[in-house]
Amino acid sequence: MEIILKQGKERSLLRRHPWVYDTAVHKVVGHPAAGDTVAVKTKDGRFLAWAAYSPKSTIRARVWSFREEDVIDERWLETRLRYAVEARRSLHARTSAIRLVFGEADGLPGLIVDQYGPYLVTQFQSAGVERFRGVIGEILMKLTGARGVYDRSDAATRQREGLEIRSECLCGEEPPEEIEVVEDGVRYGVNVRVGHKTGFYVDQRESRLAAQKLAEAFRAEHGRGLRALNCFSYTGGFSLALLKGGADEVISVDSSQEAIEMAKRNLRRNDFDESRAKFVCEDVFSYLRTLREAGETFDLVILDPPKFASNHHHVARASRAYKDINLNGIRLLRAGGHLFTFSCSGAIDVDLFQKIVAGAVFDAGSDAWALCRFGAGEDHPLMMTCPEGEYLKGLHLLVRP
Ligand code: SAH
Repeated sequence: MEIILKQGKERSLLRRHPWVYDTAVHKVVGHPAAGDTVAVKTKDGRFLAWAAYSPKSTIRARVWSFREEDVIDERWLETRLRYAVEARRSLHARTSAIRLVFGEADGLPGLIVDQYGPYLVTQFQSAGVERFRGVIGEILMKLTGARGVYDRSDAATRQREGLEIRSECLCGEEPPEEIEVVEDGVRYGVNVRVGHKTGFYVDQRESRLAAQKLAEAFRAEHGRGLRALNCFSYTGGFSLALLKGGADEVISVDSSQEAIEMAKRNLRRNDFDESRAKFVCEDVFSYLRTLREAGETFDLVILDPPKFASNHHHVARASRAYKDINLNGIRLLRAGGHLFTFSCSGAIDVDLFQKIVAGAVFDAGSDAWALCRFGAGEDHPLMMTCPEGEYLKGLHLLVRP
């Protein structure tokens, strides 16, 4: 079975970009079903790639391999999965929460696998990996020695691929309600059934460590711990890292009571002084204004909102929202204060995000340095031929006195 591309539409594949859009397809030869492997060819019959066919998606096929001699079967999958698992080996010394497979970047388009201690959580976001679901589960158990694999295939991308939503144990043992992981010395509980993504923001590991180190350095320099405001705190990721680093006071703000409750449970998992942590269930947009009216100030403000722009149609509205929280966040900083600010919207690129934050700094009447840029960790590698994989970006700003 084959997909023949329109003249000229082979260019992106020749540059090893792994997606075939519906608009690039000249003709489908044979009657491939969803998930079937097809050969992608140029109009004049030259082989380009093996890809998984997805009749309902605008990404009509996702490339498995650019090598004609490859056979996309169980053995082939095992080789790719083994490589992905091996590539993360050094991270185990620091953490038990690791992204083992990051879709396109690992040559397995649409497959997400996160490890939480002895359990794995999968997301099958394309017809291709969905086809091999059972096999992938078994291979993963074998490669990692995991006790069980839980499938959280309930992301919106599945609907675009015409796949139904699913949340169930795929193989091995059912995970407990909360799995405990340890990341850079901090304990977190992860609920893989109802948590966001697969239960935890594994992608913020490096930034959480940076927060921990900033808290340590602050205490060493000032002889007191910093006072921090963690906005969009979810299950307390940044808050606990800051307490670990020796912060004096951390206020965590989230609009989800469930997330706040989990953050409180996470606090109790660690032996921190609980009086240093405050939790507020509020809308961040209005709470930042409330704090300002009350004259509150902080040494560090963290802004890690959910994805404000899910696609390019929402960029203008999302930019205003990012501007709003950044402006009001900066206004709460003491002279010499720090801002950790993030965007996980793929549609807002690094340049645009930087411009929005620069606009907020200017409007606040402040001067600021960007001391460092943040991104997802090494277990979320960026495939150089597929820039769409870069979504998380962040800045560490120092507001100059
Ligand atoms: N920083 C977290 C992840 C943040 S996820 C970590 O490292 O784990 C985004 C969080 O924002 C979610 O918990 C969601 O409940 C919360 N949220 C979304 N909109 C909000 C709003 N307007 N005000 C407050 N919290 C909000």
